[in-house]
Amino acid sequence: MNQSRQHQYNYLFALIILFSKKAQWYMSRKLANPHSSHAKAIQLTFEAKGQGHSADDYMVEDRVNSCVSCDARDGLTVHHVVPDMYRRWMPLVIKSKSSRDLLLLCKICHDGYEGHALKLKKQLVKKYDIALEGKGWIQRPDYRAARKAAAALLRAPEKIPQSRIEELTTTVDSFAKGEGWTDLKWTDILSKCSELKDTFQGPDFVEHGECVVGQLMQNTNDRGRWPDLEEFVKQWRQHFLDHLKPKFLSSRWTVDGDIYTA
Ligand SMILES: [Zn+2]
Repeated sequence: MNQSRQHQYNYLFALIILFSKKAQWYMSRKLANPHSSHAKAIQLTFEAKGQGHSADDYMVEDRVNSCVSCDARDGLTVHHVVPDMYRRWMPLVIKSKSSRDLLLLCKICHDGYEGHALKLKKQLVKKYDIALEGKGWIQRPDYRAARKAAAALLRAPEKIPQSRIEELTTTVDSFAKGEGWTDLKWTDILSKCSELKDTFQGPDFVEHGECVVGQLMQNTNDRGRWPDLEEFVKQWRQHFLDHLKPKFLSSRWTVDGDIYTA
């Protein structure tokens, strides 16, 4: 048995021990026998194919819990090679099982890479003409003036000169009249004004990632897949390799590894 096949079997045994009901299921169908050397394991009588990953694929490997860049064992985080702000808008056949693009990094390596990732995101801002904050924000300077005036009046009116109090009061009062808040008590008006948001997402708001992925999905090939989106995933994988130069990442993890789950 070669090494990768051994890995595949080890993995299956571990799973089967965990799910012993499943072991019973296999044995009752004569698909497995009690394992010769593991008391609690069974031996499959057929060759498991997994999810179509070949024996030399990264996905069938045993992996250790350490940083793929520096091998540190502490302070590990799961790093999304394709940032979540993009991945979340991708079709299920890509994002539902993107474990290939989830890699362990320690906090130091992760933080070190994030600066590089931000540079790439800023290039994408230009290429796809969409700010990182998204577009469709609505700004209301009148809300802002009313909120600030109300907040000042609520905070410490005794510290404000009388002439300024009158100005602030006029600002809040005329705003409240404009909003038709004529029946409200002054304290309620102040409190409502102090909670106003002067910047908010309008009805046509679109997030950066949503806009980028939307453009990447405009071209489909004859198999109904998205070549531009595939290139985008590979671009992030290559970027990750180029900038982090991960010394402890399996050589089976490649830029061209599977993108789709089926
Ligand atoms: Zn590290």
